[in-house]
Amino acid sequence: MENHGTNQEQKFWHSIEINDVLKEFNSNAHTGLKESEISERQQKYGKNILTQKKGDGPIKRFFLQFHNSLLYVLIISGFITLFLKQWADCSVIFGVVLVNAIVGFIQESKALKSLEALAKSMTTQAVVMRDGKRMHIDSSEVVPGDILFFVSGDKVAADIKLISSRELQINESALTGESLPVEKNINTLPSSTVLADRKNMLYASTLVTYGSGKGVVIATGDNTEVGKISQLISSADVLDTPLTQRMAKFSIFLIYLILTMAVVTFGVGIYHNQGWVLMFLAAIGLSVAAIPEGLPAAMTITLAIGVSRMAKRKAIIRKLPAVETLGSTTVICSDKTGTLTENQMTVVEMFTDGKTIEVSGTGYSFDGQLKLKENNTIIGIEYSKSLKLCLTAGYLCNDAKIINIDGKNDVQGDPTEGALIVSGAKAKLNDELVEQYPKLDTIPFESQYQYMATLHENGGTNIAFVKGAVEKITNMCSYMLDKQGNKIPFDKDEIVKVANEMATRGLRVLCFAYTDLDENHKQLRHEDIATGLTFVGLQAMIDPARPEVIEAVKKCHSAGIKIKMITGDHALTASAIAKAIGIIKGENPDYTAITGSQLEQYDDEKLKEIAVKYSVFARVTPEQKLRLVRALQVQGNIAAMTGDGVNDAPALKQANIGVAMGITGTEVAKESADMVLTDDNFASIVAAVEEGRCVFDNIRKFIIWTLPTNMAQGIAMMVAIFLNMPELPILPKQILWINMSTALFLGMMLSFEPKEEGIMEREPISSDMKIMDGVFWYRLAIISAIIVTGVVILFNYELAHGATLAQARGVAVSVFIVCQSMYLLNCRSMTKSMFSLGLFSNPYIWLGIFIMFATQLIFLYVSPVNTFFSTEGISLASWGRLFILGFIVYAVIGTSKFIGNIVRKKS
Ligand code: ATP
Repeated sequence: MENHGTNQEQKFWHSIEINDVLKEFNSNAHTGLKESEISERQQKYGKNILTQKKGDGPIKRFFLQFHNSLLYVLIISGFITLFLKQWADCSVIFGVVLVNAIVGFIQESKALKSLEALAKSMTTQAVVMRDGKRMHIDSSEVVPGDILFFVSGDKVAADIKLISSRELQINESALTGESLPVEKNINTLPSSTVLADRKNMLYASTLVTYGSGKGVVIATGDNTEVGKISQLISSADVLDTPLTQRMAKFSIFLIYLILTMAVVTFGVGIYHNQGWVLMFLAAIGLSVAAIPEGLPAAMTITLAIGVSRMAKRKAIIRKLPAVETLGSTTVICSDKTGTLTENQMTVVEMFTDGKTIEVSGTGYSFDGQLKLKENNTIIGIEYSKSLKLCLTAGYLCNDAKIINIDGKNDVQGDPTEGALIVSGAKAKLNDELVEQYPKLDTIPFESQYQYMATLHENGGTNIAFVKGAVEKITNMCSYMLDKQGNKIPFDKDEIVKVANEMATRGLRVLCFAYTDLDENHKQLRHEDIATGLTFVGLQAMIDPARPEVIEAVKKCHSAGIKIKMITGDHALTASAIAKAIGIIKGENPDYTAITGSQLEQYDDEKLKEIAVKYSVFARVTPEQKLRLVRALQVQGNIAAMTGDGVNDAPALKQANIGVAMGITGTEVAKESADMVLTDDNFASIVAAVEEGRCVFDNIRKFIIWTLPTNMAQGIAMMVAIFLNMPELPILPKQILWINMSTALFLGMMLSFEPKEEGIMEREPISSDMKIMDGVFWYRLAIISAIIVTGVVILFNYELAHGATLAQARGVAVSVFIVCQSMYLLNCRSMTKSMFSLGLFSNPYIWLGIFIMFATQLIFLYVSPVNTFFSTEGISLASWGRLFILGFIVYAVIGTSKFIGNIVRKKS
């Protein structure tokens, strides 16, 4: 066999008859490849993955760390000091810049790595035929020659030549940029046909938006069309979010402010006849001091920590801005089945021949019996023709499989369908039935139709089995069967009444019907089953609510987050579940549930009102989901919306946070989502919201720590020069030392702050909330005032009491170190004291403070460091005074938090 992948262009597979293609790959359309050949092929062709084009290399990424307006100012300042031959200042400035770049680089690399790892963990499944058996495999395991099956919602795993197709539509925008779906068929085409027109081919990375099909793989991995053109299949997103963008803009404002301060200080210094070189250095020192250079790195770190914390709680972030938006979520629109409930279906009741039948047993185990409810007698399939057909329809109109793993039954495929196999098996049906009624065609289940149908041979004639939502199927039925199996007119009202009663108890009810078709009917169309069906029974299943959801719903309510259940299921079933998990509380029965068909009657204006009023939306189509999410958004809501199907993609894109299901979700839904849940669980969305709030909190805490302290550093320099003090209390190189060490050892540690208790008892963060609010400016004023006063008083005090100039400066520098450390403890929460947070709940804070003090001791007492920085060891009494000042900082901010809390409680 030659290397087909690389010769694909010359081969023009679209112009070759399918049998020749199969021959070429030594494959068989019915039985697929032999399992024994797979490893050889895998070795020959490699894994079916695209080689990731390397993003920016480490060197480029390192240099990009300097690409920041705040750092430009620092670098220019560094060169000026170099030019002025101020070696100490120069080396400290470049030290600041370099250390920041290194920290930023390391953290960014870590963040990128974890994002990459997350993207890789999101594997795609493919369904192939091997050794005559259909199996689900990881798409990376697909090899050329494999026979691949696909249905709507799948991402095509490799380049494929079609063998058969059914109403197949593919979105090829990943390849051609054309966003409208393309219809596919199996007709052979001339070799000159261009890629976009090759209707008998499917290409890797494109999406199946409708229908189903089967084909033979002709190229995998980098040999696929997308592999050839892909410059960058980037898994990692840029580390950029609305907040980082807002902060970047704010930095520009800050630079102007700081430069103005520097120029004015320089001017005043010259006016006071200070030497111009000294003033120049002072101005540079001031600028460098006031610039919060740790800010970009701290934001990146906090976001990255948030992403990994969310991943641990089963929410994978696909688009980084979602981390922040999650914190502001005001409404979560959730599916019911599988998200709020377990999606572990068990048929517990049936209704045929006017009789209720109870089905015993739990889960997917075949242990259980069918009993007539009225007299508890055990019955079998022979009980009546209706019962037999109802169970047969459930068994055959079915794509799921029950598999046995370690002695325990589990379902492969849709759990609703799995439950129907189990109920059949309890009545002793088995796979002989599948041979008895060979399947000719299938209309797969699509939520917009709410039914599924299959066509089978039935000894001379054909028979179509249909199953689906009660409202749908009962409208398609004209007959039912009497005890003897004769057709009689269908009594729709009775059946609907029984089904509603079952639904009120939270059961998910499916309706079953059949119709005979003549033997020439080899394909099933929607028209064939639109009317004239014969009703054979109902099967009702339980799908228990997920126990953890009840707690999560409570959390949402206390966090001011509204929950909307948006489901394809019946209104009564949905309401019963909603009541059980606390989404609707008894008191307002008028607004329990509204259905999709009712929604149809409302215009967008009215829909706004309805969307707010109701909590349960049943029998909703994906299009209505989109309308609902819009209606909620125009009223200022930040909406998270779950989805799994192909048709959910627009709603997932429209929502502020599109949430796709990792287990049951289609690839199409996952591609459109901002976040994917690995356990499909509603509680994981709530966990992610909680983490999102924490990320926002921590970024805010860092900003509220760094900006006031940086400003205080700048202002201290300014004041010293304004007051025309005979000696500067802090030298430029010293202020640079303060700046570098505090940003690194103190501020960064706030990124690790765990989420505060009660984080889900606050209202959602308003999306336009200002970070630089009243509290911020208040803190800025207070911290600057205390630190600057402290520096001026203690510096002069030391000089007046016999200290050397170097010692007095050592004290002045230590004022910053002590005050900033104490203020860091204040910043661990905006409202709580560190005692109520738990003194050691963020051990990094203490580690940071410890390192800070250890280095400060070296700075003061160890030569040659202290000579380099022109300082000297200070007395114990000086430390005493410093700590009193530090305590004042802690007490003042602590008291203002306390008063703030009282005021907030009162209002
Ligand atoms: P949710 O939207 O909360 O996930 P759901 O699974 O009930 O709930 P859909 O998948 O849209 O929503 O299903 C809608 C209805 O279609 C169901 O209530 C059921 O009556 C019917 N149905 C569901 N699955 C199948 C299936 N595999 N075959 C036939 N009918 C089905």
